[in-house]
Amino acid sequence: MSSITTVFVDRDGVINRKMSEGEYVNSVDDFELLPGAVDALVELTRAGMKVIVVTNQQGLAKGVTDPEAVEQIHSGLRATVESAGGKIDQILVCPHLAGSCQCRKPAVGLFEQALEFDPQIEYKHSAVVGDSSSDIEAANQIGALAILVTDRPEASTNAVNAATVAGLTEAVALLTGIRRG
Ligand SMILES: [Mg+2]
Ligand SMILES: [Zn+2]
Repeated sequence: MSSITTVFVDRDGVINRKMSEGEYVNSVDDFELLPGAVDALVELTRAGMKVIVVTNQQGLAKGVTDPEAVEQIHSGLRATVESAGGKIDQILVCPHLAGSCQCRKPAVGLFEQALEFDPQIEYKHSAVVGDSSSDIEAANQIGALAILVTDRPEASTNAVNAATVAGLTEAVALLTGIRRG
């Protein structure tokens, strides 16, 4: 685990509360941080890891998600993490409809973008933390360590080649080797 230097973190359902099925985080008011999420991100920075948020937001293509709200949410998230002593290195968004691009997870376009911005990133020294099978699939495709966030570990049949944890806090504990509680 100690060889992990970059952590790709899914947004909805990992950093902030996921909306109901078929609904999107369309406004700043919809963005509700999950307990412990900011502290967990800060801990990754403290452990010397790069933090990259990778998020599918097809509500943008559907015209229901306000692009300015997305910008606001992301600059707010960066500021919150920074004032707590951490750093989000990149936030990468797929704004496209399912089936219309090469970057919507489980496709790996966002991960390739990350590498373009920062050629020092190595997939084999990376982890992907997400709450969907698409996150795990993407992780498997790039050969990164996959960590599935789920409240139903026994039902996670999609979690092939993935560790399962209850939340971002637990994922970070796993990545940094710190045992708690
Ligand atoms: Mg998610
Ligand atoms: Zn896309």
